[in-house]
Amino acid sequence: MTHQVIITIRFCDTNILFHETSSKLMRYLIPALLTIIITLSCTSTKQQNQQMPPGKLKALIIDGESNHGVWPKTTIMMKRYLEQTDLFAVDVKRTKYTWQGPHYDQSIGLDDITDLLDQYPAADAGMTTSVEEPQPDPDFSPDFAAYDVVISNMGWKASTWPAATKKNFENYMKQGGGLVIIHAANNSWGDWTEYNKMIGLGGWGGRSEKDGPYVFYDDAGQEVRDPGAGACGSHGPQQEYVLTTRASDHPIMRGLPTKWMHAKDELYDRLRGPAENMTVLATAYSDVEGNGPSWNKEVKGTGRHEPLLITVEYGKGRVFHTGLGHMDYSMECVGFITTLQRGAEWASTGDVSQVIPSDFPDDVSVSKRKWSWGPSSK
Ligand code: ZN
Repeated sequence: MTHQVIITIRFCDTNILFHETSSKLMRYLIPALLTIIITLSCTSTKQQNQQMPPGKLKALIIDGESNHGVWPKTTIMMKRYLEQTDLFAVDVKRTKYTWQGPHYDQSIGLDDITDLLDQYPAADAGMTTSVEEPQPDPDFSPDFAAYDVVISNMGWKASTWPAATKKNFENYMKQGGGLVIIHAANNSWGDWTEYNKMIGLGGWGGRSEKDGPYVFYDDAGQEVRDPGAGACGSHGPQQEYVLTTRASDHPIMRGLPTKWMHAKDELYDRLRGPAENMTVLATAYSDVEGNGPSWNKEVKGTGRHEPLLITVEYGKGRVFHTGLGHMDYSMECVGFITTLQRGAEWASTGDVSQVIPSDFPDDVSVSKRKWSWGPSSK
């Protein structure tokens, strides 16, 4: 007796068809099929492991809305900086509606700032639509709990998140999540009380004395908290400046020089906020004449040592907040790269295992690495 058997196995999106006309041959075919299935299973597991290696820390960069229109590029830069440590596997989650603000078109040689979205694609960011003004994404709901650390590359005027997303993020942080705040991410969401607690200090975004004191260091090296009335957030022309370490025994700062030169960047001053459970890691001096905003000659620099690297403990969560990172060239600073890598590890684990690179800047000269796509673990 003969009959025809068609066996179809769907594996790894491939249909494997087996036509058999002899029941006798089935005795030979079945063991062969089992061998194929076992082999494919092993291969599939290996491929999955290569995509998300076990033991790596899981990091999520969130972006999509910032007046710092270079953000599509800086997200990719930071993704690679983290991957190059060999400690992190990094995903990107982007808001459905992207906004890049009115600035920087000419400064980076583009007629249309949205070209950066094509030049620096984030494959896992999903489909997006570029808009003229920030537009809330009602579906923005990252699975924060799947990550050891969230890095915010959002900025000024970022849209309010859905209430459920805000609550999920608060719970994630209270239960031991990690957060890294990059530069203008401290402009976002001035009316979100819990976010202000997470970031410690913020700028702009409607913030004022109602949100907390100015925090700075005086010339004697003492931390000062000033609750007096006044604007929140300012900076002068971009410049190179010195960072001064204020917490040399903190894991992020351990082994770094006491003073080091940072590449051309904005120097944020007049930040204010709840500043609860906050540690100032490093400051930079806001010169009275040199750090006044160019758009308002009435305002001067503060003459204070401004906190630009800080940490905050929020519930069981850890936050590393860097005021550095205005532009792509600012992020080429080895000081920025190193503190980002170390800060992200600390926010993830509470400790730092990385060694200080030999090209870390000293107190005299800037040290930069010209950015290129570089190696990726993906
Ligand atoms: Zn900026």
